[in-house]
Amino acid sequence: MTASASAARPGRRPILPFLRLPEQGEPYLVGQKCGGCGAVYLNQRVACSKCQATGPFTEIPLSRTGTLHVFSIVHQSMPGVPTPYIAAIVDLPEGVSVRATLVDVEPDPAKLKFDMPLEMTTGVSQKDKDGNDVVAFWFRPAQR
Ligand SMILES: [Zn+2]
Repeated sequence: MTASASAARPGRRPILPFLRLPEQGEPYLVGQKCGGCGAVYLNQRVACSKCQATGPFTEIPLSRTGTLHVFSIVHQSMPGVPTPYIAAIVDLPEGVSVRATLVDVEPDPAKLKFDMPLEMTTGVSQKDKDGNDVVAFWFRPAQR
């Protein structure tokens, strides 16, 4: 666990380690930036796949907006998971792609366009076994 992850409010934790929940302001995703070539990755890396450097990697905040790279409308899932939903890959301006579910838009291909602008939204998706609120992120069509 990194210092910033443990700084999340008690009773509230991110669903994934690269989601940050600051005391002030909106939650955001973080990337790991290669000190050798500037490539950015979503998860912890042992080496850069672009320049093979083994570091240092610096944590950087990622944009809360991106564009729709690709999507799939999921009609069958595990029990308890409402369908249909939109599974998407979102391109962020930092050169990172993130897998996310799209919300606030009908799961209809006619309503979705490749490269359409999206923005991140967050909310409590569930409680963990210790009673903490688990905060998840989704993307939705950009509001402006
Ligand atoms: Zn690199």
